[in-house]
Amino acid sequence: MEAKSGGTVHLIATGGTIASVPSAHGLVPGFGGAEILRYCQSALLHYDIEIEDLLNLDSSNIQPEEWQIMARAVARALTSPRPPVGIVITHGTDTMAYTAAALSYMLVNLPLPVVLTGSQLPITDPLSDATANLAAALAMATSGVPGVFLAFDRQILLGTRAVKVRTTGFAAFESINHPIVGHIGGDGLVLDHSCLPPPVNGPFRLEDAVDASVMVLKLSPGFDPGLLEALPARGCRALVLEAFGIGGVHELRRNLLTALESLIAAGLVVVVGSQCLYERSDFRRYAVGRSVLERGAVPAFDMTTESCVAKLITLLGRYRDPAEVARRFREPVCGDIQSA
Ligand code: ASP
Repeated sequence: MEAKSGGTVHLIATGGTIASVPSAHGLVPGFGGAEILRYCQSALLHYDIEIEDLLNLDSSNIQPEEWQIMARAVARALTSPRPPVGIVITHGTDTMAYTAAALSYMLVNLPLPVVLTGSQLPITDPLSDATANLAAALAMATSGVPGVFLAFDRQILLGTRAVKVRTTGFAAFESINHPIVGHIGGDGLVLDHSCLPPPVNGPFRLEDAVDASVMVLKLSPGFDPGLLEALPARGCRALVLEAFGIGGVHELRRNLLTALESLIAAGLVVVVGSQCLYERSDFRRYAVGRSVLERGAVPAFDMTTESCVAKLITLLGRYRDPAEVARRFREPVCGDIQSA
């Protein structure tokens, strides 16, 4: 038999389509890690894999509390007496990009690869993309390159840059405003080291505090700013506003500027980005955007909304002071901001 690659990979199963089986109510996660791996015989021959069945959820139900459970599981594995060389997390695709971003913020100075993967069709389906995705994740997990990544459709994406862009297509994720960091082809896994975040600097630290009091608003013409008045009383501590184009909000007839100013005065962190998927926001360009910054909003620059949400949830968990959250939000982490 072929020799196995050095070191153990820790596989954490959390549910998702990859693990799903039919039920009377539609697909439900049913498989644990061992059952998933039964469909990946060549991976079993090639890698030493230890399995942890952590969750069994459709990722629609994966929320900040589950991010904590996953981050703690990773921390446990890598501080164990015999740490793995890398970690693979099988996960539903619907919120995988949020989890990938969240883990990037919670696992500080990560010394090994943590790779999320899943599939668009259950692993039991003969046409499934699951085994190829899992093979890509295992290859990345044994690459020795530290960081949080997402492996899908033969591509490796940075955890802070992934966005789910397709509901059924196998190319379900794109790396937004950042090149993919690797791909699988005839030469195996090829990584582009120039696209990887700077190497870790300092000891590993688990930052597992969260506060989910964040709202995302995609602005639409005619939106009534009065609807935002309820947010402080509901305990909302941060708003991510997906504004128009490179950066603009309406003030004519319905004055969003004063509404945002009131939220900031009430202690909310207001992050403003673009509802365009590609390229940066820059609220300095047009008068309808500049006034937003003048009122104290924090620019999202070229970050994904997924990363904005995950960064705010983790920062709000760590800090009470909105000024501190706003200051730390602007600091690039794991390649999340490039074009400021
Ligand atoms: N609803 C599923 C989930 O996110 C979809 C998937 O895994 O592809 O768990």
